[in-house]
Amino acid sequence: MFHQRSLKLAGLYLAIIMSISVGFSVGIYQLSSREFNPGVQQPGPGGPRGSGSIGKLPNMIREAIREERELEFQQAQAQLRTQLITVNLFILILAGLASYQLALRTLKPIEEANEALERFTADASHELRTPIAAMQSEIEVALMDPKLSTAKAKKILVSNLEELAKLTTLTTGLLQLAHHENGIHLQDEVPVDHIVIQAVKRVSKSAGQKQIKIDVPDTVNKTVRGNETSLIEALVIILDNAIKYSPAKTTVSFSIQLHKRSVDIDIADQGLGIKASDLPHIFDRFYRADTSRSKQQGEGYGIGLALAKHIVETHGGTITARSMVSQGSHFTISLPLL
Ligand code: ADP
Repeated sequence: MFHQRSLKLAGLYLAIIMSISVGFSVGIYQLSSREFNPGVQQPGPGGPRGSGSIGKLPNMIREAIREERELEFQQAQAQLRTQLITVNLFILILAGLASYQLALRTLKPIEEANEALERFTADASHELRTPIAAMQSEIEVALMDPKLSTAKAKKILVSNLEELAKLTTLTTGLLQLAHHENGIHLQDEVPVDHIVIQAVKRVSKSAGQKQIKIDVPDTVNKTVRGNETSLIEALVIILDNAIKYSPAKTTVSFSIQLHKRSVDIDIADQGLGIKASDLPHIFDRFYRADTSRSKQQGEGYGIGLALAKHIVETHGGTITARSMVSQGSHFTISLPLL
């Protein structure tokens, strides 16, 4: 399919190039015919143009010279035709190859974006279907039960409500992802200290519930260019995970390191850690490392880190993770300084 589309586009490019080239060639040919054809030369003020002293010669010699010139002209025309055809054939081959390369280059990013969108739609639909299917089957089973008690009905309603809460989490995540992918406004001058404090404030309640202490770093008085809300969002995602995947009464430590042109914001937890085999995938959309283990820590859909990565990369930064099972995780966001 991709190949076919590339060929079509290459054909279009080639048609444009060849119509220009052939148009030029026809123009040159017609111009040369008009200019050099002895049969159509305009008579000048001193007799026929280009004929010089021919006018004074006897008729027979004049006729012979004219025929000679006619022959020369026809030979020149034939030569010009051959040259133009050769040049056009050469252009056809070269332009054909160039057009195909250009078409591949034009269509590749579009194709990749299409594939990503298809993958995303398939993943999102799958994630949406799971809680919906669970609710549907529970309701169907309940409706088929002629002796459905109020207590049992209530239990089903509670379970349905849980599934609805999952759907709300998922749709909120998807909306956030769509919102950020539509383009982030990067014009603010954002103080690093400010985004750290705001992010910590946002998670203080959930940290408090698990009695998790968050160590806040000293102020650094540095600024990055970007979008304040999105940067806070990225930090909140990392902090939320650190809290979610850590046992109660542990510590989440923030540290900031300044480099010449960038700042590293590091968040370390003393939680479950991540398996080496999962580490390369945790920033992929809908990826949840070791689902059973992660699920014990609460519902998630593997959207958070993908969103955080998108935000950081839009700011020209990087996000990396280091972790070992049972020894906690380090997430480092590196951003270029203003
Ligand atoms: P989720 O909503 O599942 O937390 P994320 O995209 O935020 O989605 O994270 C992807 C996966 O990475 C999680 O399911 C979890 O397994 C793992 N993960 C992320 N942060 C941590 C952490 N601090 N400690 C342990 N595992 C983590």
